[in-house]
Amino acid sequence: MKQHFHAEIFRWGKINTMDSNKISSSNSEISSRPSFMEVDLTRLTSNYKAIQNFVGDSTVMPIVKANAYGHGIVRVSQHLSSLGAKILGVAFVEEALVLRRAGLKIPILVLGGVLGEQIPLYLENDLIITASSIEKLEQIDQIAGKMDIKAKVHLKIDTGMERIGVHYYTAETLLEASLKVKNTFVEGIFSHFANADSADLTNANLQLERFNGVLSFYEKRSLRTPLRHIANSGAVLQLPESQFDIVRPGILMYGVYPSNEVIQSIKVKPVMSWKSKVVYFKVVKPGHPVSYGSIWQSEKMVRVVTIPVGYGDGYFRSMTEKAEVILDGKRYPVVGRICMDQFMVNIDWDSAYNNDEVILVGESKKEKITVEDLANWAGTIPYEILTNINTRVPRVYKE
Ligand SMILES: *Cc1c(COP(=O)(O)O)cnc(C)c1O
Repeated sequence: MKQHFHAEIFRWGKINTMDSNKISSSNSEISSRPSFMEVDLTRLTSNYKAIQNFVGDSTVMPIVKANAYGHGIVRVSQHLSSLGAKILGVAFVEEALVLRRAGLKIPILVLGGVLGEQIPLYLENDLIITASSIEKLEQIDQIAGKMDIKAKVHLKIDTGMERIGVHYYTAETLLEASLKVKNTFVEGIFSHFANADSADLTNANLQLERFNGVLSFYEKRSLRTPLRHIANSGAVLQLPESQFDIVRPGILMYGVYPSNEVIQSIKVKPVMSWKSKVVYFKVVKPGHPVSYGSIWQSEKMVRVVTIPVGYGDGYFRSMTEKAEVILDGKRYPVVGRICMDQFMVNIDWDSAYNNDEVILVGESKKEKITVEDLANWAGTIPYEILTNINTRVPRVYKE
């Protein structure tokens, strides 16, 4: 016979005595939160190694921008560095500074555009700058001269993304200029794909062709070619000719494929899972709608549990009427609007207790909910789900 709901009352006392032994966050108040993102570092290790194996002699530059796609930039970077990663990529100088302050000495390329006033920050902290125009390259060189520090740059070529970088058809002027700088070491040259994760690779191949055209500059003049790179996760998976000296996988390292049409030539497993606990249990009668806007009600008596996670944590409100969670190995629907800090789940007439584990993303027995599922429910892409899980959700690392 199924559990009777009155039994729940006697479990109330357990809410505060949570099982915090697995939690290793520095802030005990935050770490005692019953909702957390579990980051499985052993999976990060196997994903990183699978990618490194696949690309052979190319250097893997793990991309750790946006808080390591939500997984925690410092811990993830320390881990990758301990695995032998030789260089990391971030989007902004501020992200690189977080890593320097945490004591990481590893080379870091800042992929985004540089602002003149920030150049000294890069130089003082031994960061590699993206030189995306002649003017910027010259400015970097000039400031480096004044500061008496040798700047290190990677030249950025736009082969079809139209974001930053010098267009491939005028790139020769940047390459010429890069031969004349005095205080700057041009370590690398790179570009970025707009469509490397699609089934149709026509556009990616065109970009690759343009990049190769730009690179021929060095061969024609018998000059040393700087380190070449263009491959993001999609290209690592689908375009072996684009691997060059360095590859720049982001999302793939975290065990998520960049799109659902990409060839899964490397097997990776999701690094993160997202868990919480039942914080409230009740029986809801027909005619008593649940949550804001009263958009959902049951046609019969049902048991409903409340989970202390909401869109303020990055559990998107747009998943309302679509999302599901796993409780005791079984999937149940989220009902009523997702609130800022809580949402409700219809468990029909099954049993659940306060403090029971609820899986928002992850695996349990035969059930699995992925970041891709959340992206589909929210009408977005996995990247946006991962990078929007708020810092209010503690990250718990599993070795
Ligand atoms: C974000 C980013 C990457 C990584 O992209 P994924 O699709 O996550 O692999 C690589 N290179 C640049 C320039 C980027 O901005």
